[in-house]
Amino acid sequence: MKTIDKIYINGEFVKPKGNQVFDLINPTTNQLIGQVTLGNKQDAQDAIAAAKEAFKTFSQTTKAERIDYLKRLHEVVSRRKDELIDVMVEEYGGTYQFSKMSMEFTLSSFTSAIATLEKFDFTKKMGFSEVQLVPLGVVGIIIPWNASNGFIAGKLATAVAAGCTVVIKPSEMSALQTQIMTECLHEAGLPAGVFNIVNGLGDVVGAEISSHPDIAKISFTGSSNVGKIIAREASATLKRYTLELGGKSPNILLEDADFTKAIPTAIAAAFMNNGQACVAGTRLLVPESRLEETKELIQAMLPLFPVGNPKEETTAVGPMVSKKQYERVQNYIQLGIEEGATLLAGGLGHPEGLENGNFVKPTVFYNVNNKMRIAQEEIFGPVLSIITYKDEAEAVDIANDTIYGLQAYVSSADNERARRVASQINAGRVLVNGLNHDPEAPFGGFKQSGIGREFGVYGLEAYLEPKALIG
Ligand code: NAD
Repeated sequence: MKTIDKIYINGEFVKPKGNQVFDLINPTTNQLIGQVTLGNKQDAQDAIAAAKEAFKTFSQTTKAERIDYLKRLHEVVSRRKDELIDVMVEEYGGTYQFSKMSMEFTLSSFTSAIATLEKFDFTKKMGFSEVQLVPLGVVGIIIPWNASNGFIAGKLATAVAAGCTVVIKPSEMSALQTQIMTECLHEAGLPAGVFNIVNGLGDVVGAEISSHPDIAKISFTGSSNVGKIIAREASATLKRYTLELGGKSPNILLEDADFTKAIPTAIAAAFMNNGQACVAGTRLLVPESRLEETKELIQAMLPLFPVGNPKEETTAVGPMVSKKQYERVQNYIQLGIEEGATLLAGGLGHPEGLENGNFVKPTVFYNVNNKMRIAQEEIFGPVLSIITYKDEAEAVDIANDTIYGLQAYVSSADNERARRVASQINAGRVLVNGLNHDPEAPFGGFKQSGIGREFGVYGLEAYLEPKALIG
């Protein structure tokens, strides 16, 4: 049983002024594994004041100094990566396989920020003016539990690259990961006040950060509903914001695709992080003529994605993060049945022998119409819907018929054809023929999947303000 009773302000671990205690529950066993004391509004204000003071000097650091800090951050987090992987497995039920891959993404945030920074020019000539790109100020970072190390690393790396200081409000559900990350970041030796971390509830610490006049920008990752609340709060003082929100990603298999390769990729894309991923490919679009083959291949390949204890290296699908999330996913499976979709695999209830944790049966529906709620709403669990299309144009229409537009997937034997179809899809990222990751490519959503981009040059520019010196 671990107790976390400190937050991090101005370079020190301090007792929060808040005294509410939140229980940390292992979703594999539903047993209590820790407790975290939550900060309150005053703690958020103290953190913001420290970040504001630190900005005065950190904003003046050179590019070379900031590259040096990023190298140190990379080094300290690398040293404790195995510990972080174990805690991800324990705390939110991320599978060992996924947590290991996710840690690589976390580390790549630092290396890609260095690569971007090395190439980036903070001064440009435009007309006869000199345009300087200057750091925005104090950035409020509000993040979810589902890959919390990655979000801390990605957003902090960009802030450091830009010369901004930050106040981070992680999810209370990921306090154990946050604690190790905080210890790593402390060890990296950034100047006091450059980063501050306050555990706390969204409507307390999160609300204070999104409305405080000394916060210049909010970088938020989470649900579209909370993103809209934050945008409203931030507007009162005209803060900048980057919102990374939900998704309902389409995965188009064109009729010339090799389904023996595309189907396992589709299952992996749908069930990644136990289906609790904003980029999960939850709508599988296949030609009518290949539906039967799709069903057969999915049934044959599902055993390669076993559900079970996330600690086991072979497990592909672990539990839902909480009982509440388990119930939510069950309700969507029930809804799919009521809406007239047909179960190909999975269904209601726990998988056999896994009744103690928040495990859901990996579920696949067919006979799904894109207008059904299971095809339109983000479920955030291992539930895949197969939707058929007549021709390529209809596939694109169905893919785009959603309020979301975060990520999409396209497979074809002809790479050029896949890219042509990809160019018609309204999504911030389209993965062509596989699950490739590029940490320097921009990431973010069209439509209600968000506003703005993270990573690479676009991510860095979102932490900067252009300023023209004329004459
Ligand atoms: P959430 O929106 O409930 O919470 C996210 C964060 O916002 C938490 O830290 C929470 O405490 C805080 N928050 C809640 N209410 C707030 C308020 N009124 N003011 C300020 N902050 C507040 O999301 P979640 O359940 O933790 O995570 C799941 C959601 O995150 C899904 O919708 C998923 O798609 C989305 N997500 C998006 C991305 C992306 O990059 N686009 C990545 C991962 C998750």
